Amino acid sequence: MGIKNGVVLVLSGPSGAGKSSLINKIKEDIGDYYFSISTTTRPMREGEIEGVHYHFVTEEEFKKDIEKDNFLEYAIVHGNYYGTSIKPVKQALSEGKLVLFDIDVQGNTAVNNRLGDITTSVFITPPTLSELEKRLNGRSTDAPEVIAARMSMAKREIQRISEYDYVVVNDDLDEAAEYLKLIAKTARLKKSNEEINRFVQQWEDI
Ligand code: 5GP
Repeated sequence: MGIKNGVVLVLSGPSGAGKSSLINKIKEDIGDYYFSISTTTRPMREGEIEGVHYHFVTEEEFKKDIEKDNFLEYAIVHGNYYGTSIKPVKQALSEGKLVLFDIDVQGNTAVNNRLGDITTSVFITPPTLSELEKRLNGRSTDAPEVIAARMSMAKREIQRISEYDYVVVNDDLDEAAEYLKLIAKTARLKKSNEEINRFVQQWEDI
């Protein structure tokens, strides 16, 4: 990925965990950051805006990007393609930013394989499965079968939380936001292997 001194913070967790609300709550307090806007083939939900929530593309367009090796990682989630474009991430890292990813467990594995030295990961979840169901129903943006699919996905994803550096239970939004802020600040202290080598060379100044 070239010279980089930014860091990555992966946020995973079921839709309905409150990831977006948490990011909104902490964004003023985490310094210079870049939120990676994924590309997806899933249909746009009501209230979503092209280029803000996602880049919405056709399956054909998505597959072309795969062929051109434009993705840092991509995965099929709930039957739709989702991917993280390399270019803006590379740019943000070279500017020393904290790069936030809202990606699933497959994405977390892929990002850790490629950028593990500068990556911190956090899994965000409601306190229980029934609370998740309540939130998904309350949101009422999805059809019942979509909600059912998200619930079974959440049950599968929760089995893999040990792959994350941190787990934040979003029961009380203010408290969860405080924890996430601390994690984001700590994530900044990660150093790439390149930076560590440079640091050691400079440190040995006698
Ligand atoms: P939603 O359709 O609710 O916006 O997202 C569904 C799931 O896809 C969420 O778990 C979200 O984190 C994940 N997701 C969104 N963008 C990406 C991406 O670029 N890569 C991967 N691997 N997962 C993503």
